[in-house]
This record gives sequence, C-alpha cells and structure tokens, in this order.
Amino acid sequence: MILRLFFCLLLVLQAHAGDFRVGAARVDITPKDGTPLGGFYKFRGSEGVLDPLYAKTLVFEKDGVHAAIVVLDLSGTVRPLVAESRKAIQEQCGIEGDHVMISGTHTHSGPQQPRGSLMDDITKVNSPPGVAYISALPGLIAQSVKEAKAKLTAARASVAMGKAEGISFNRRVLREGVKEAIWQPQKLNQATDKPAGPIDPDVGVVAFHGAGADAAPLGALLNFAMHPTSVGAGTKISADYPGVFTKLVSERHGPGMISVFANGCCGNINHGDYINGKRRSTLELGTALADATDAAWPGLKTVATFAPRVRSELVTLQRRSFTPEQIAKAKDMAANMLTKNYGTVPMAETVCILETVEKQSVPLLAEVQVIALSDELAIVALPGEIFVELGLALKKASPFKNTIIAELANGSVGYVPNRESYPQGNYEIVSARGEVGSGERLVEVALRLLGEVKK
Ligand SMILES: [Zn+2]
Repeated sequence: MILRLFFCLLLVLQAHAGDFRVGAARVDITPKDGTPLGGFYKFRGSEGVLDPLYAKTLVFEKDGVHAAIVVLDLSGTVRPLVAESRKAIQEQCGIEGDHVMISGTHTHSGPQQPRGSLMDDITKVNSPPGVAYISALPGLIAQSVKEAKAKLTAARASVAMGKAEGISFNRRVLREGVKEAIWQPQKLNQATDKPAGPIDPDVGVVAFHGAGADAAPLGALLNFAMHPTSVGAGTKISADYPGVFTKLVSERHGPGMISVFANGCCGNINHGDYINGKRRSTLELGTALADATDAAWPGLKTVATFAPRVRSELVTLQRRSFTPEQIAKAKDMAANMLTKNYGTVPMAETVCILETVEKQSVPLLAEVQVIALSDELAIVALPGEIFVELGLALKKASPFKNTIIAELANGSVGYVPNRESYPQGNYEIVSARGEVGSGERLVEVALRLLGEVKK
C-alpha cells in the first residue's frame, strides 16, 4: 500500500518535472461603506466605490517548489496581516510562509490597517467596521493564492523594461539658500529650485504566457515607482492609477490575464508635476503607464526559468532617538491631535516620536525577501516606503539583469530615506522609524541574498 502511494506520488511529480508553471487569480477585497481609510492623517469612513480593490496573486511552481506574489490594493502591509495570511496560505495551499510575498500598491483610497500607534486613534481603524475588514483579509488573501495555485499551468516568462518619462517627480526639492528640503511644491522656481534626487522611469514588465507558441498571456507582473495619491483625500474607494494601469494592460494584451502591479521604490516620488504645475488625473497616469507597457511589449524576451529560489531574512534596524524636548512637545500635541488638524508634517513627526518612545524595547524588524525565477530575473521585497535612490542603487548593483523591487512588502517600517536625505529633513525624514543608514543596510542584505540565489 505504502509502496503504491509512493509510486503514485512519483508519477505526479514526474508529470510536472521540468515544467515551469504559473497560476494567476484575483479576489475582490473592496470594503463595505463606513470602513476607515488610510493614507492621510485623519479619519475618513469610506462612502462609495470608484473602482474595486483586489488581492492579486501569481503562483510559480517548478519541481514541486512554489513561490507566490500577492499584491493588495491597499496602502501597505503590516506584519500581523502578513503573518496571519502566510499561516492561512500554508494551511490551505501548502506553500511555505517565507515563499510568499505580500505587498500593498500604496493606494491612498483604500482601508487603513492597524499600526499600533496614535495613527490607529486618528484613523479609527480599531472601530467595528475597521476590525471587521482587517479580520476578513487573511482569508481573502489565502483564497486568491488557492485559486491561483489551482490554475497552475505550464508557462514561459518573458521580460521587457519600458520607460515612462515625465509623469513621476522627486517630491523633495532643494532651494538655494534653504537648508531644509521643500516637500511637494506646486511649481518649481527654475532659477532657485532643483529636485533633491532622481526618479526611476523604468516600467518593469514580466509576462507569463501559456507554453504553446501562440498561447495567450495568463498573467503579468508590472512595476513602476510612484505614489498612488492621484484620487486625493476623498471618501470613495479606489485602487488609484495602478487600477487603471492593470485594467488597461489586461484589456490590451489578453482579456483573461491577471495584471499585478507591484510599486517600486517611491518613498520620495509622486505625480505632482512641478515643471508645469499640473496634476495628472488617475486615468492619465494609468494610461501613460499602459502606453509605456505597450511600447515595451514587442521587446519581451523569454528567460530560462528555474524552480523558484527564495531567501528571506529578518533584519533588526536601529530606531531613531529623540531629545526630551522633542518627546515633551510630541506629548503635548498628541493630547489635542484627535480633534485638531496640525498639518501632515507635525502630525507625522508626533506619531513617529511617540511610537518610537513606546516601542523603544521592541526590535524594529524588517524582512528582506528575494525570489529568483531565472538567472535573468529576480524580485526583491522591501518592507517600507523606500527612497528611489536606494532602489536605483539596488537595481544597479544586482547580479540579475532584471530586478523588480516591490516596496511596502511583508510589513512596513515606514519611510526609508537614503543616508544623504536625513540632514535635509521634512516629511519623510521626520516620520522615518529607522536611524540613518537603515536603507543602505536593507540594500546590502538584499544584494547578499540576490548573490546567494544567483549561484
Ligand atoms: Zn507614502
């Protein structure tokens, strides 16, 4: 009996040996009205839906080794959500937790998640509708992985790098004679101002086609670095520009395919066009990225795939430290912050200082994960809003020809600026949890892990 079972198992394994298989699925995670939204330092209960939110999943398998990429149309991911989802996925799908990447697109028009800080009180995320939404998520995420796994089919992967110029901007600006960086200016004064750093115009396109020569694509992984804040701080639900972008790519390249958008290192990148003072609409941004994908599509180059090679490492970052005066000021402000709006930057600073003081003895853990599918293709997951300089450095030093970086993946340590940006201050810096050098440390670990999976 046991011997027969063994042979059956061997047959099943043999049936798939050598095949690289891909499955894609999506599950609707649009909340009910009244769900607390994230993305801004205030309470917004959702009222109506502009477009639906999804948990989108790609599952990869070869020789019995699985890896899954899940992207949520949410502002990010928190560790408890990731842990619970991975547990449910392990139980229901048999895919090991550390072989699963879960990231958020960073839409600012989706539900908030609890962060264990003053933000929870400001956004009312622990109110009954907030709790109901969050507790249902791990089940929905596991369901999307289950559906994607059930659809595993022999596939080939191909990669192209497109370019979208002129739609994303480094939202930190240096002005002659001013020490602190200016944050999100409406329009640059060309005589005195210059962007504090670069942008990343790359549009990463990874397509997964069925194995036949003329088989249709079944899924795509798309990558670009830009804050999805184009819908604004209203109360309607929206996936923001990633929703438009992925919908158009599926419509144009294969109606049945699931297009998954992982946001790149966009900690300091948004769409506010300070060259001409214009703010492009959600539709314009999504369309520009779909057009860039169209332009890249004919150049898709098939890569030789192998069984997913995955590494995951928990890094302990050093928390920032604050003076007694800063802490006293934060406590003062916090007392009134639920009823008074002090503006984004002071509120962000207060939330960060108080959280840091409260969690001084709790390690600031950051998971760095890499998933390689080919000698020419790897995906890196970083847990926070990573400055573009760090992403560019990582891509450049990566031993892989094509490196896709997903930020806000497997949890978040908040903003992760590069070393040079700290002395320039302003929004992202005052709300960074990690000490100077945290970002470079994450890049260093990612590069080491990439080196390990390259061999
Ligand atoms: Zn952000």
